[in-house]
Amino acid sequence: MEKKVKKIILPIRSYIFVVGGVISGVGKGIAASSIAKILQDRGQCVTAVKIDPYINIDAGTMNPGEHGEVFVLHDGYETDQDMGNYERFLNKDIGRENYMTTGVVYQSVIQKERNLEYDGKCVEVVPHIPMEVIERIEKAGDKENADVVVVEIGGTVGEYQNMLFLEAARMMKNKYPNQVFFVMVSYLPIPGTLGEMKTKPTQHAVRTLNASGIQPDIIIARSKVAMDDKRKEKLSVFCNIPANRVISAPDVKSIYDIPINFEKEGLSDLICSTLSMSCPITPKDGAREWNKFVNKTKTIKDELHIAIVGKYFNSGDFVLSDVYISVIEAIKYSSFAINKKPVLTWINASKYEKNGGLKELKELSKFDGVIVPGGFGSRGIEGIISVIEYVRKNKIPYLGLCYGMQLAVIEYARNVLKLKDANTREVDPKSKNLVITVMDDQLNLIGNKRMGGTMRLGAYPAILKPGSVAWKAYFNSSKLAQISLNTISERHRHRYEVNNYYVEMLEKYGMIFSGLSPDGKLCEIVELPISKHPFFLATQFHPEFLARPLAPHKLFTAFCKACKNRKK
Ligand code: GLN
Repeated sequence: MEKKVKKIILPIRSYIFVVGGVISGVGKGIAASSIAKILQDRGQCVTAVKIDPYINIDAGTMNPGEHGEVFVLHDGYETDQDMGNYERFLNKDIGRENYMTTGVVYQSVIQKERNLEYDGKCVEVVPHIPMEVIERIEKAGDKENADVVVVEIGGTVGEYQNMLFLEAARMMKNKYPNQVFFVMVSYLPIPGTLGEMKTKPTQHAVRTLNASGIQPDIIIARSKVAMDDKRKEKLSVFCNIPANRVISAPDVKSIYDIPINFEKEGLSDLICSTLSMSCPITPKDGAREWNKFVNKTKTIKDELHIAIVGKYFNSGDFVLSDVYISVIEAIKYSSFAINKKPVLTWINASKYEKNGGLKELKELSKFDGVIVPGGFGSRGIEGIISVIEYVRKNKIPYLGLCYGMQLAVIEYARNVLKLKDANTREVDPKSKNLVITVMDDQLNLIGNKRMGGTMRLGAYPAILKPGSVAWKAYFNSSKLAQISLNTISERHRHRYEVNNYYVEMLEKYGMIFSGLSPDGKLCEIVELPISKHPFFLATQFHPEFLARPLAPHKLFTAFCKACKNRKK
């Protein structure tokens, strides 16, 4: 008798590679996030991978002024800010499998070679490096059992640095001929002297991509204004691509418009039909929640004025707000959630260090609230401490994040406890009153110069004091509110800690330690009671990493509410 063989049908996974042409910085990451988003809204399980071609093992060792924000994943990996966009657009956590650099790929190939995992073969740049890349991309898909993996390759085509990643993409197309899709995000300049949109650089970029054995399935044509049919036709002819696959992507005011604009061009249908993906949800139904959020950002008029006082804003003559992108986005979501339009002002802390800074400090009174985000080193910190003193005394809502918490503790120790030389070990290790210090294991790491990836990184739990401002922010609005509900989990990135020796003294003078690590040894949140200040709260962790457009962060929302209630 014939045996019945049970057929196992493996889910078909698709891979969408997003590569850049002509110039960088035209929104390849946002394009990748938006593609991931519109496919997720059609009912696909989507995950996103970012490839950064530099040698650094992670983004943690890079100067934020040059590279932008370091985005920390829940598992503690320090990554590029694009990972933040993926998490925000997809409204879910993404793991370390989803991020790779040239450094990390080489490191694991070399480790495997040392472990005799290549069966005595000669290990070569090609194919072993691209194979490692492919393995990592597949692993990211497996981990989430994803229907679609969107992979963004950093840099632009033609660069020496990303060649091996393009080779991996080409090899994947060979491995899964019907399931790999290529998107080129290109740029069409309009030279001032001509006033005409030019397609030639994009034509060259596509040829360069062709030289890597890759033909784009679509071109996303970034430009100042929308592209006309004449130019679509031109790119179609010279790049071997149907005109309906040349997607016009003009500059927009808000990045959150981009998924909507892509759908206006029918992009999800185009991708799904090419990859034979059946979608249970229509584009209209899928976009409902997102559209609601975007509409809100456009219609709310009543303003909330918030100052962010930081130290990484200037790069030459330019202002670099990218360094605090998660903070900025977190404020936006919470502000819109309470029906206020956020108006943000970036202030460089060093401004408060000149001539006593009193005149400048007074200008802070015009804001509804002040945020001091994370940072490192000594530059600008005296200015920040003056700002914290001013907002504390003048009852201006204050939210401190990481360094913003450590400096709030220093300010309190100096001006309330009268420990005039209070400081952090990071700035003045000789100070007699190190209210911010390091744990012993960190001292060893610093001593041995083991700085990369060794901070306290990623998600850790904290226990909140019932009834505190922090507890109310997290739990009071919830229907489940009860005293037993007091544990949160937030992402960290710091080496220094509040010195427990001073905690009792600080408490005696009115500072409340409303969040602690479960063992009670590490301080996670400080605050002032509502009787003393309308909102003065600072966290050792970075709540901004968990703020999402469709799930604003509760602490930011509590801060925005306090700003809304501020009577100037
Ligand atoms: N420099 C401080 C520390 O390392 C704060 C870090 C931060 O703000 N992310 O602890």
